[in-house]
Amino acid sequence: MNPSRPLFTHAFVGMGCANSLLLHALHRNGLLENSRLLVIDPEPKTTNDRTFCFWLSPEELHANGLESLVEHSWDQVICNDQAPQQLQHKRYYYLSSAALYAHAKAILTHYDFIWEQRAVDTNLGELATHVFDSRPPEWKIQHASQTFIKQSFYGWVLRTAKPIFDPHTFTMMDFSIAQNGHTQFMYVLPFTDDQALLEPTRFGKQIISEEEAFGLVQAYLAPFDTTFELISQEQGRIPMSSAAPISRQTATNVTLMGAAAGQLKPSTGYSFVRNLHDANALVLSMKQNASSLQRRQVKLRFVYYDRLLLQILARKPHRGKEIFQRLFAHNESQQVLNFLDERTSPAQEARLMLTLPIFLFLGAAIRDLFQHIITFLSKVSPALLLGLFAVFIEQVGLLEWCQPLLLIGLLVVGLPHGALDHLHQQPGKKWQQLLPYFTLYIALGLGVLCFWFVAAPFALLMFLVYSAWHFGQADLEIWKLKKSSIEPFLWGSFSLLFLLFTHFLEVNKVLLQMGVKLNWLSDAPFFSSMTASPFWMLIGIIPVFIFRSWRIVEAIIVLILLSSLPLIEAFGIYFIFQHSWNGWRYIAQITPMNHIQLWWQALPFTLASIGLFAGYYFWSSAQNWGLLFIFLSALSFPHVFFMHRAYPTKS
Ligand SMILES: Cc1cc2nc3c(=O)[nH]c(=O)nc-3n(C[C@H](O)[C@H](O)[C@H](O)COP(=O)(O)OP(=O)(O)OC[C@H]3O[C@@H](n4cnc5c(N)ncnc54)[C@H](O)[C@@H]3O)c2cc1C
Repeated sequence: MNPSRPLFTHAFVGMGCANSLLLHALHRNGLLENSRLLVIDPEPKTTNDRTFCFWLSPEELHANGLESLVEHSWDQVICNDQAPQQLQHKRYYYLSSAALYAHAKAILTHYDFIWEQRAVDTNLGELATHVFDSRPPEWKIQHASQTFIKQSFYGWVLRTAKPIFDPHTFTMMDFSIAQNGHTQFMYVLPFTDDQALLEPTRFGKQIISEEEAFGLVQAYLAPFDTTFELISQEQGRIPMSSAAPISRQTATNVTLMGAAAGQLKPSTGYSFVRNLHDANALVLSMKQNASSLQRRQVKLRFVYYDRLLLQILARKPHRGKEIFQRLFAHNESQQVLNFLDERTSPAQEARLMLTLPIFLFLGAAIRDLFQHIITFLSKVSPALLLGLFAVFIEQVGLLEWCQPLLLIGLLVVGLPHGALDHLHQQPGKKWQQLLPYFTLYIALGLGVLCFWFVAAPFALLMFLVYSAWHFGQADLEIWKLKKSSIEPFLWGSFSLLFLLFTHFLEVNKVLLQMGVKLNWLSDAPFFSSMTASPFWMLIGIIPVFIFRSWRIVEAIIVLILLSSLPLIEAFGIYFIFQHSWNGWRYIAQITPMNHIQLWWQALPFTLASIGLFAGYYFWSSAQNWGLLFIFLSALSFPHVFFMHRAYPTKS
């Protein structure tokens, strides 16, 4: 807290549409008594920077105390070349932003307030007890199903020499104007029979230029054979995004408002009524002293409809005209407005959808579903996908199909992930300069190999310890979960022991091949429980509780799936598609190379390790899985050693 700043009860960051309406609602409900108000806005908010139009029932307008601000209203609407339609219980209202801002300023004078004309971007929570942040947001496409386009327009209020307008009827969308490969329409607000706002508007990636817009106005007026004079001009670019605004880190006393709080309807760019309803919801929860502030309700199916429409407008802009023409031709305007207000029932929406080019929307829905599946799959660990696949093919008796996948995985990522240590340990060195490093690498491996011949049980213990350490490091580093230096070892031990104990009979056979007898272990207390996955699932509650991360839950699900597979398939999937995959991604992060370059860098060492193993295998007297694991332990020791040096000591 800045001690020199007086303590404000409410701070309004930005005094545009949303915060003006909130201030208005707070004031009308007597929620600002004895308040000290702070407004921060880089703009003086004295100019008419936009006009707000919206549809409401006269009763609702009255209930919200906005009548005095309205400058014009219409009770009939035209869309395209149709006959004018009555708006029935609603009217279409027009108020200038200048009037709204002036109204907000007039309200402020009832209170102790300060208006600071500046921009603020940090420490908003310190401004006041309650902070309402309406700074315009940024949008970022998070995945392929999302679309970001713009509604761009130029509007001219003009006076025509001839009386050509009907002042009772506004034109919401007239798609008779040239489309030129875009989705664009004329929006007309007639104030008198010879004065109107004409606004050529485009929905799309490309912004409409002033020249294009003015050309469209001239072409629109040409059939009336009238001259005209320009009175005023407005222009706008409103984001139409199916991605939510990028969330801002906010303190708990900061409430996002307006577009930043998702109050801009993506498919239309209208936000005035949404802001009004949101302000009312906030005020209601303040009056009720609710523990958390309530917001305008969002119905997810409308988010979905908007997403499909934006996808079509972005990908097939030339089809926009057809969609909107059919929407207005086959449905009453009142019904369309209710739909845009998100106040229709699913049955009404279905009827409305059937009037649209249905295959276009079906195609968009399939594409959307496909993109969601791809996005979902890209977030799921490959080990989970492979684990599910392997369990499925095992059930149908085709587990051998797993082997080619394991072989490919071993060549693509399993072996290469361990063949890149020189890149991060000896960066930029030429082959001949790497000789001492390779000598040390091979010596470390040979040392481990010798150890197996001299004291196999100790070599096994060592192998388990450094593998657990290394597996844990690879997982926790890439998942950004490491908080202390012991956690990787504990997590790695848990994973490894889960895998080994739930395959104990097979592990025991391999260990015998490696020269280690563990028969005594069978007499240990709880031994039979330890070979069953429920025991490890129970233990798994501890890491879930400690890390509180989906990644840990996912990894435990993988281990549960693997416990039902034979050892070699289970270990292969775990080693390649969890451990190696995570290790590979970490190396890709710390080296300035892409995946293909990394793979080529690893290739000589991948081939060398295959060659070494082949020689070792055929040279050995007994050829079995034990041999492979001894070789792995020797090969992995220097890798574990050097990777440990590559991981940061502190997270
Ligand atoms: C030209 C135009 C015409 C429109 N017409 C309509 C219409 O007819 N009907 C309708 O429903 N919607 C309309 N819209 C859309 C919608 O009304 C606006 O997007 C609406 O203003 C959004 O409200 P808001 O409060 O989130 O943002 P704004 O009204 O833009 O308010 C944001 C405020 O934050 C201030 N600010 C910016 N940066 C900072 C900072 N760093 N620190 C402090 N303050 C900051 C800005 O100066 C501004 O005053 C129109 C939009 C435009 C651009």
